[in-house]
Order: sequence, then C-alpha cells, then structure tokens
Amino acid sequence: MKALVLEEKHRLSLRDFPIEETMGPLDVRVKLHTVGICGSDVHYYTHGGSGIFQVKAPMILGHEASGTVIETGSAVKTLKAGDRVCMEPGIPDPNSRASRLGLYNIDPAVRFWATPPVHGVLRPTVVHPEAFTFKLPDNVSFAAAAMVEPLAVGVHGATKAKIKPGDIGLVIGAGPIGLVTALAALGGGCARVIVADVDDTKLAIAAGLGAITTVNVRARDLTEAVMKETDGWGVDVVFECSGNEKAAAGIFDALCPGGCVVYIGASGEVIPYNLGKAMVREARVEHVFRYAHVFPRCVAMLSSGAINVDPLITRTFSFEESVEAFEIAATSPSGQVKMQIAMPE
Ligand SMILES: [Zn+2]
Repeated sequence: MKALVLEEKHRLSLRDFPIEETMGPLDVRVKLHTVGICGSDVHYYTHGGSGIFQVKAPMILGHEASGTVIETGSAVKTLKAGDRVCMEPGIPDPNSRASRLGLYNIDPAVRFWATPPVHGVLRPTVVHPEAFTFKLPDNVSFAAAAMVEPLAVGVHGATKAKIKPGDIGLVIGAGPIGLVTALAALGGGCARVIVADVDDTKLAIAAGLGAITTVNVRARDLTEAVMKETDGWGVDVVFECSGNEKAAAGIFDALCPGGCVVYIGASGEVIPYNLGKAMVREARVEHVFRYAHVFPRCVAMLSSGAINVDPLITRTFSFEESVEAFEIAATSPSGQVKMQIAMPE
C-alpha cells in the first residue's frame, strides 16, 4: 500500500510499502481519514530517533488518526463497518503486570504507532484492536477526532492534577501539547488558566481558547505575573509543557501551598528540581507518559462542546503533499499549531 515512509534520518518518501497485517477476531480494519503531524513524527524525521527509540529500518510515520471501520473481526461487538472512529495508537500486552494494574500506558511492552520498530498510519488502512478504537458521535469531525491523541495527553495531565472546580492553572509552554493541556484544564474545572511562552503568535492563539490569560516570559517575570493574577497566593496547578530546563527550575515559585505540579514536557536532559521550594509548599508532583483510559472522555468533551480543538488545527495538506508537509513542519513555522494530512477518499 502507498505510505509515507521515513527511509532514514532526513529522507522521506511516499511510496508503495509492503505491509502484512492479520485480522484477529477482536480486530477491526480502519480506512484512515485524517492523520495529524506530531512533534515526535517530525523529530524522527529530523533526528532519526529519540532516546532509546532509533529508526533502524524504513518506518511509516503518523499516530494521530481518525477513520472509518471497513471490516470487523468475528468477535467484535461494539463496532461495525461504516462507523467513524478514532484510534488510540498504543497497544499494550493485556496480560502484562502494568496492564493488569490499569497502567497500560507504562507497560514496557506497549507497541505504539510510529515508534520504532512499529509502523504508523500514514497509509490507506490499518488493522487495530476494537478495544483501542472509539466510535465518534456524528457531531465530531474527523479532523477534531485526529486531535484526540494529543488532547488525551492534556486530559491525562488534568486527571493526574486532580483539578477541583475553580482551580487556577498555569501552563508553561504554548505548543500543541501546552494548548491542549490548557483546554483540558478548563474542561476539567479550572476557572482560569495562565499560559506562558516566549512566542507572541502562540500566546495569541492561546488567548482565543477561553478563560486564558497569557504571559510572555521574555517581557514579564512569570512568578511576578502569577502572583499578581492570584493575589499573591499562587496557582493550584502548574502544568510544565515546555521541557525547558529554566522553566522547570523555577516551577515551584508560582505554585500555591499544597498545590500540584504536573510534568508533561519531555526533555533529554537531567532537570534539576528545587526540593526546598517543593517541601515548604508540600507540593505534589506528578508525571505523565502519554495517557490511559481517557480517549472516550476526550470524545465526549468534543461532542458536548466542553472542549473545542478546531482553533488548533491550522493547516491541512493532502496525502500527496505529505513529504512537503513534513519539510514545513520541520521548520517550526510561526503561527502553526497542528498540521494535519487528509488521506485520499
Ligand atoms: Zn502525538
């Protein structure tokens, strides 16, 4: 089948790629409709890998996807051909200890689309387990449904934060994950969210998403700005979505006593942590790795209107243009949040 293949670092091609998939009784076959371009896909393209995951053989990219069921395994009960769906891209070993504990996202055996050596879904069809395929209500578009994957990271972070109604949140970093986290924090009950970044274009997009105050940390000291916004108390939850060492170093300064910090942004570096500042606040610190159990919640919030991801979808390419789309994405173009690829009808 024709696929977008990362041949090696810096070399992509749109070509026929042989791929054999067997349908099990609990699998469905999905025709892909929309696939989002994720920072991790771009990172594999520009760096050939990240951490322990290195691209050693040609790999199909793409893991943020929606589509239509075209075939179902003999034991599938909840889905039928014609259903519009989005898919959770990580498939754990159901019998692993982590999965049995409900922590399937941190199962070391998880097979995740477009993470070497597992192929992604910038291709016409994919076979996927029914258990990780979620039916879409009519009012959720394919484009919004392909945003469920990144949104799930924010919703998982908001869940870990244990947000209470009326909390004030701070999101550091206004990239795609920062913005979906801000949406998830509002959807999860925050009265208001402060979003910090160095890029005014990104902050302008953030400001349009709801009850969001923005701070450009090049122009203003973040702690000072937060204290002014919270009458000197600090925010209830800080979501670190930048992976930036400097941001992480001062992270407890903006946090209220008894507050929670959720680390979402990734970094390959060792990030120092100010124990004294965390201690005097009895800060709770959480980490997230992808997500677990939140796709149906994301779909429900998109359908009810509690969360609207449409303003984050800033550009759509055709499948034929997908090499170009990655070249553009690799330049981190200003004003772009989420670029997507529309698969052939
Ligand atoms: Zn992603």
